[in-house]
Amino acid sequence: MTIADVQAPVRFPEFDPERQYGMIIAGQSVQAETGNTFRCYDPFEEAEWGYVPDASAADVDRAVAAAQAAQPAWAATPPARRLALFQRWAALVREHVPELARTMVHENGKTITEMTMAMAATPNTIEFCGHYATVIHGDTITPQMPEHSAWTTRVPVGVVAAITPWNNPIGLLAWKLFPALAAGNTVIVKPSEVTPVSTIRLVELALEAGFPPGVVSVITGAGLAGAALVDHPGVDKVAFTGSTATGKRIGQSTGGRLVRTTLELGGKGPNIVFPDANLDKAIQGLVTGLTAGTGQACNAGSRIIVHEDIKDEVVARLIDALAHLVIGDPLDPDTDIGPIASRAQYAKVSSYLDIAESEATTTFVTGARRAKQIPGIEHGLFIEPTVYETPDPRSRVRCEEIFGPIGALITFRTEDEAIQIANDTEYGLVGGLWTTDINRARRVATKLDVGVAWINTWRAFSGNVPFGGRKSSGVGHEMGIDIFEEYTEVKAYWLGPDDS
Ligand code: NAD
Repeated sequence: MTIADVQAPVRFPEFDPERQYGMIIAGQSVQAETGNTFRCYDPFEEAEWGYVPDASAADVDRAVAAAQAAQPAWAATPPARRLALFQRWAALVREHVPELARTMVHENGKTITEMTMAMAATPNTIEFCGHYATVIHGDTITPQMPEHSAWTTRVPVGVVAAITPWNNPIGLLAWKLFPALAAGNTVIVKPSEVTPVSTIRLVELALEAGFPPGVVSVITGAGLAGAALVDHPGVDKVAFTGSTATGKRIGQSTGGRLVRTTLELGGKGPNIVFPDANLDKAIQGLVTGLTAGTGQACNAGSRIIVHEDIKDEVVARLIDALAHLVIGDPLDPDTDIGPIASRAQYAKVSSYLDIAESEATTTFVTGARRAKQIPGIEHGLFIEPTVYETPDPRSRVRCEEIFGPIGALITFRTEDEAIQIANDTEYGLVGGLWTTDINRARRVATKLDVGVAWINTWRAFSGNVPFGGRKSSGVGHEMGIDIFEEYTEVKAYWLGPDDS
């Protein structure tokens, strides 16, 4: 079946299933030198659409050369001019929020509600970062030898490679691309092969706003294109969001060459419910943690850790809340749960339903139906929200990042045990707890070995609050005012004594 067989035009007005998209190098929309392409896939319609260039190392060479050529002039562009470009870009993105949100829904099946919220925040991030261009500054320092003078400046790192995953293509690019550009770097973006078109459109709008050729480029392709970019000697900094496995490979390459690198990787978030919690709010938090983005979120609360005294009540209420979620068309604003994003991810998430069946101590709690087994579903890569009870600390369902709407339920008896269970993971991205005891809240949150601890909330984000992980969840952070330090180098200057 092709998309032409699907009654789709009114669902996505900009949509032409046969369109050949171009990647962006030196300000031009170009094809791969080899002429190779790949296709996008709509996981709700189960249909392919569009042709996108499949870049090779030769295309990466062209993009890096353009970025290197453009970088000195971009860094020397007066701050007010840089800010004006950011403001024009933000205005254009604001006008295109519905189109960009629909494009992402078409690419990854996430709900229009989630993708619209992600897109609506993007112009604000562009403007926030654009202003940084006008306030970059160093310090004057009185050194230990006061007859000397010393001062610092902040200089751009150079050429930045920004590599992103498919689960929130523009939201996750924003905190790489905008601060890097504001600080005077040039950037080459390599979006996921699952979601290339939304990124191409975002960068086309940058060109329309007047960003000079080569300042921001897009290379499309899969792992080979990403690796060619990471390994390129002309790249000065890699900013990556994706799986821990890929992040480790990138770290090995860039570490050996001392290339600055930030890695935002996987998670297996613990969501702890204490007996004194406000259960109305806690259940809502568990549902959000399990189902937001159909569970395809690094910040998922995929380990539900509940005190044994309230387990029966929590389970009953959780099952009831999950049963009320609307599963279906991601373009319908009433839909809560869209499909899994791609055929590969559907196969992976499905395999964990089989793994759960095969684990001796893992027991079924709710869910586990896929695709047409779900009432009312006629097509689409759906898996319904699912919970298994996993008493065995070695259960794969409990330990491994599934990146789908599958939760591992674990019970505890004491606060120390809850903390031990929460930290018994290779990951350390987000974690949360539900309690009305302020002292317990502070005590437990402090002991969670995570980069972001949520107390009586889940999935709270703000551009000025940092986000990043520990352990196998990453190196460095994004968001927050400190983000600009990731995209600048401090340079120190000394002036000797005045002998005149
Ligand atoms: P992935 O690692 O498969 O791919 C991520 C990106 O890396 C893609 O653009 C891909 O083409 C590229 N890539 C693949 N191999 C590469 C290589 N050898 N060198 C360079 N680039 C390469 O991840 P994914 O499946 O796209 O995304 C899901 C993962 O992302 C999950 O593990 C999730 O937890 C993680 N994630 C983390 C955060 C965070 O902020 N920590 C946010 C969202 C997603």
